Amino acid sequence: MKRLVALLLFFFSFSFAKPNVIATYPWIGDLVREVGKDRVNLYVIAKGSEDPHFVVPKPSHIARMRNADLLIMQGASLEIGFLPPLLQQSNNPKIQPGSEGLLDLSQFVKIIEKPEGVSRAMGDIHPEGNPHYQLDPHNIPILARAITDKLCQIDEKNCTYYKGNLENFLTRWDTKLKGWDRDFEKLKGIKVIEYHKLYDYLIRRYGMVLVGTLEPLPGIPPTAKHVEELLTNSKDVKFILQDVYHERRTAQYVAQKLNAKLVVLPHDVGAVPEARDIFSLFGEIVRRLNQ
Ligand SMILES: [Zn+2]
Repeated sequence: MKRLVALLLFFFSFSFAKPNVIATYPWIGDLVREVGKDRVNLYVIAKGSEDPHFVVPKPSHIARMRNADLLIMQGASLEIGFLPPLLQQSNNPKIQPGSEGLLDLSQFVKIIEKPEGVSRAMGDIHPEGNPHYQLDPHNIPILARAITDKLCQIDEKNCTYYKGNLENFLTRWDTKLKGWDRDFEKLKGIKVIEYHKLYDYLIRRYGMVLVGTLEPLPGIPPTAKHVEELLTNSKDVKFILQDVYHERRTAQYVAQKLNAKLVVLPHDVGAVPEARDIFSLFGEIVRRLNQ
């Protein structure tokens, strides 16, 4: 009898085991939460306030990755500084490159700013083009769908549930997106400078004009020479777009010199307290640019 109970418990736990899903960034985690809700165990590696290029790997990440059924990454080299060693040390064949349990979301969107000749020697940390594609809100439905398809693949029995949640999410997203599109219409044609090439997808989507970046190259800190050149060549700049994790002194200096407004924008869920989820992330970006 005892053995029978043990056996039943074993099969019970097996058939109801939730897939362990790891997301590299909070915005990916939030989409997993929308689709998977309480039927997945979710763990997110990076914090929204961290530089996404330089996430600090921790032993706790390796422990989580060891038991993962699915790892969802942003790709396009964004995680190149921390994910390969974590993957190797996790020693988990399910989530290695080429496995069913690794989903690279960069495969589903059009990557902009792909360099013609790659020159890593110059220190450019965007060797495969711009990896910050989550900041075009029109990309989000495509990415939510890709996550749903993958969850269906690794956890077939809950596929109908995941698809239902996706449809619910897409309906709510579509309504919000119409409002954001209207709000951004007012910003068409305005000139902006950004610290890092972080907001390019947003800038392109809504027809803002990128005059320059404070970094001479993605990943290279501003130099006096570069900043002076930028000041000489910039006219009628309205906003200096600053992320939450770089120093602000350069942006403050440039904003003052150009009589522009310094705006700190979240780039991920959790980057600022108001960006609690993927909806409020974009809501907050819109609010800060229209203030
Ligand atoms: Zn970057």
